[in-house]
Amino acid sequence: MRHTERFAPSPTGPLHLGHAFSAVTAWTAAKEAGGRFLLRLEDLDETRSTPAFAAQIESDLHWLGIDWHGPVLQQSTRHAAYAEALRSLAAQGLLYPCRCSRRDILEAAGAPQEGAGSRGAVYPGTCRPAHAVIAAVPPEPGTALRLDLARALAAVPSGLHFTEIGPLHAGEHAIVPETMIRELGDVVLARRDGAAAYHLAVVVDDAWQQVTHVTRGADLFTATPLHRLLQALLGLPAPVWHHHRLIRDNTGRRLAKRDDARGLGFLLAEGWTPQDIRRAVGLGSEEGLEFSDD
Ligand code: GLU
Repeated sequence: MRHTERFAPSPTGPLHLGHAFSAVTAWTAAKEAGGRFLLRLEDLDETRSTPAFAAQIESDLHWLGIDWHGPVLQQSTRHAAYAEALRSLAAQGLLYPCRCSRRDILEAAGAPQEGAGSRGAVYPGTCRPAHAVIAAVPPEPGTALRLDLARALAAVPSGLHFTEIGPLHAGEHAIVPETMIRELGDVVLARRDGAAAYHLAVVVDDAWQQVTHVTRGADLFTATPLHRLLQALLGLPAPVWHHHRLIRDNTGRRLAKRDDARGLGFLLAEGWTPQDIRRAVGLGSEEGLEFSDD
């Protein structure tokens, strides 16, 4: 299959240096392989995604010299595909409805945990049924659907693994159920607001867009066993992954959308060139520079 990379930002804020690093790394890999580079907007969070941010992302990428194949895929147009995937998991008895609020979960789980892949507290299993159920898709309004992780892990052949090509974690990685259960738990796949959750949508769309190489930040490495598991459960092909180092500010914090001063638009207005951006993120050496103000 033709080497296909994608860049998949959420249009919930301006792109920063970390995004630039990710996008340029993926785009360069696609170019070098004579492959395709795709742009996908992960705009499932309707309250935070805006057309203005989407337009800004496209213009920042063009400014960086990045082009993409074909039309931009917006996840907000893909609800039917996500519902179909949910129905398949539900038919396998692997989903259950959950009405817990974020607050209920934090209270039941004790202190909040920084599970990178889970993006919040690991779910303590309050609503998990003792026996498999066939959950309704879509769920009742205000109800989420969670993956029964232990049951899902038991449903795939043992020896499931994934391939990582980035220098930080290069090699074959086995899926280790105990680690996944501890780090991720029963993740939400359909959110209470009716939208598909990131973990489901990313897997469905990477397969649909025939992505062969997923290049993204190392913060998502913990989530990758889950993505591999979902691919196996849904009968989807597995890409290879490249999780790259994160770009940090000069206090060592990972850059985030709220750091406006690191936004590409801001740097452009300050007179930076695309070359300055590449240099600032240490492109060309995975050893890497960290961004600093001096
Ligand atoms: N929208 C996700 C993010 O910006 C994409 C993650 C991925 O590349 O899988 O974190």
